[in-house]
Amino acid sequence: MADGCIHVYTGSGKGKTTAALGSALRAAGAGMRVFFAQFIKQRRTSEEEALARFPGEIILKRYETGFLRGGAPKEKDLFTMREALKEVRAVLAAGTAELVVLDEILVAVNCGLIKEEEVLELMREKPRPVELVLTGRGATERIIATADLVTEMREVRHYFSSGVKARKGIEY
Ligand code: ATP
Ligand code: MG
Repeated sequence: MADGCIHVYTGSGKGKTTAALGSALRAAGAGMRVFFAQFIKQRRTSEEEALARFPGEIILKRYETGFLRGGAPKEKDLFTMREALKEVRAVLAAGTAELVVLDEILVAVNCGLIKEEEVLELMREKPRPVELVLTGRGATERIIATADLVTEMREVRHYFSSGVKARKGIEY
């Protein structure tokens, strides 16, 4: 089997999670098994409903924590993250998914919920055939240097700045 690559979708423009979902859809269509992990998010999302329609191909796991910036992470959230990383490592080691998506994991690193080193370790220990996708604003230099593909979504214009709120089916 061909070697899998490591993707990073970062930047402040729209499209990171959407691109990861598109990859999951495409992989499922090709008969690949997908493990799609969502970090941080707490709001119910429409992608949950959509991904649930591919029970044989896509497994969605949500590891929810409070979103924080600046403040110290809560012990409960650090525990959730430790368990999340254990599960992700187990999925990688078991070879039960050909595509593994870690959505918003880079935000978890920025919030101090996950250590940069732990993400680098996951990237290094990725079994060769697995395709790994990491998303979130603010990818660190070392994570960028370790990935095979890095796409930065650059915001040229966003309707949020004109007061358009997040909409179901479009943002969540
Ligand atoms: P998408 O999920 O649409 O592909 P994304 O993954 O690139 O977007 P994130 O950075 O993960 O975007 O943003 C997550 C959510 O945070 C957005 O869907 C939106 O609801 C909210 N958000 C992002 N940018 C802004 C902003 N400038 N103002 C207000 N809310 C924002
Ligand atoms: Mg996102």
